[in-house]
Amino acid sequence: MTTTPKYIFVTGGVSSSLGKGIIAASLAKLLQAQGYRTTIQKLDPYINVDPGTLNPYEHGECYVTDDGAETDLDLGHYERFLNVATSQANNVTTGRIYQSVIDKERRGEFLGKTVQVIPHITDEIKHRIQILGNSGDYDIIITEIGGTVGDIESLPYIEAVRQLQWDLGENNALVIHLTLIPFLSAAGELKTKPTQHSVKTLMESGVHADILVCRTEHQLSDSIKTKLARFCNVKKEAVIQSIDASTIYDVPNLMLDEGLDKVVLEKLALKSDTPDLKRWNEFLSRHKNPKSEITIGLIGKYVELQDSYKSILESFIHAGAENEVSVNVEPIHSAYLNEGNVAFKLEHLDGVLVAPGFGERGIEGKIEAVRYVRENNIPFLGICLGMQMAVIEFARNVLGLEDANSSEMDENCKHPVIDLMESQKNVVDKGGTMRLGAWDCTLKENSLAHSIYGTSAIKERHRHRYEFNDDYKKQIEEAGMKATGFNPETGLVEIVEIPSHPWFIGVQYHPEYKSTVASPHPLFVAFVEAALKFKNKK
Ligand code: GLN
Repeated sequence: MTTTPKYIFVTGGVSSSLGKGIIAASLAKLLQAQGYRTTIQKLDPYINVDPGTLNPYEHGECYVTDDGAETDLDLGHYERFLNVATSQANNVTTGRIYQSVIDKERRGEFLGKTVQVIPHITDEIKHRIQILGNSGDYDIIITEIGGTVGDIESLPYIEAVRQLQWDLGENNALVIHLTLIPFLSAAGELKTKPTQHSVKTLMESGVHADILVCRTEHQLSDSIKTKLARFCNVKKEAVIQSIDASTIYDVPNLMLDEGLDKVVLEKLALKSDTPDLKRWNEFLSRHKNPKSEITIGLIGKYVELQDSYKSILESFIHAGAENEVSVNVEPIHSAYLNEGNVAFKLEHLDGVLVAPGFGERGIEGKIEAVRYVRENNIPFLGICLGMQMAVIEFARNVLGLEDANSSEMDENCKHPVIDLMESQKNVVDKGGTMRLGAWDCTLKENSLAHSIYGTSAIKERHRHRYEFNDDYKKQIEEAGMKATGFNPETGLVEIVEIPSHPWFIGVQYHPEYKSTVASPHPLFVAFVEAALKFKNKK
């Protein structure tokens, strides 16, 4: 809709975890709902090339895009809000920036010159920021800068923003600074000083915030807004309150009420309209007015952390709304689950999801959970490692292959029913070398998967090294567990089911990465439906 792409930079001040990703996604939603083709990019100042090698304790879930990028979990929010796929270009890290600058240096591209942070690193950052804009696919690019203003590692990014704003010119770029207005209960007051200081820190780097989005637990009075505007050099209407919301999906409407989209569009010299949020609001109303409730057990080893299974939790929100059911997800730590307590911990559940994961810790608990739900006809969804555990459980307890395992857990096990993929056998590097991204899958007719998807050709995102071992397929199928989804080129088994069980399905891929508000994932929708049916029959 616009000729030159416009850029919005989102920086953070005062504290981390203020929800820059949600603010960026909400603003993008409002702009998209007015007809602007909008995308969001995340710049992460850490030195890892990507978060694929970070464990969830460090950085939450690792999100995977269609093109196989292992990315920050904020990209999941972007896709869930916008229903538009992201790619490698949407997540840039310091590691990646330095890697490409150093590669160029080795190729002799800077021959004769000293390679420096300014201009070489900042040029590379500017180039990465503009890749999406130059693609011609977008009118507006929102670039979220990870970390907090004042961090040493953010400096080159802030400098790149300063230069870019200058290069792009008036009305083509703006800066939103997300900040915290703390409430001091002893004084009974909201405090603006930390914000004044972080705006000042930003200014010391030559960047002026055009809009302040203020996270707060209490309403900002008119006088506080006036004060912030005066001290921070912004217009009063550009002081936007972002009050704590009961769900992240309320934030676009809250930003609309505050007029964030209007201030942004005016500053970018773009026309503003009333955003069309009809479908979004229909989803919200279904989400907030459930007709019934179910409880799903989430069996994993990072269950104490909200962010480790982010996309799974959000997928349940989408699928719950679709079914007008409130899905209560009960985290169950797999490491503390055993034969003695499994019935006590799982018997009240309406469905069980065994989570993805890596390594040995907690896998026996996951296998016990699968046994319990298989024997007790409880709806089951196994994702990636969860699917692999279902295969191991079946091999051990139905086929009687007692030491069946995955060669990830026991390299020398007698029955590696889950084994390293052929293509992985000579891989030494850990970063970015798994089977990643979207792969075709063909579904067998008359299978549960086929009836759920309503088609025989699907594409789902992967992130794993191990796979169902074909040497055991015949035995496993004869005993009643069927392989119902295959990669059309390699024949790799992507889905297993137990047709004699009311609802038992394990998938080697990650359906949770593709569930969005506008398009809830069919597997999650069907799983919630099966759990509701199971509950109503109890
Ligand atoms: N660790 C398993 C593998 O690499 C499963 C990975 C996952 O659950 N994402 O195959």
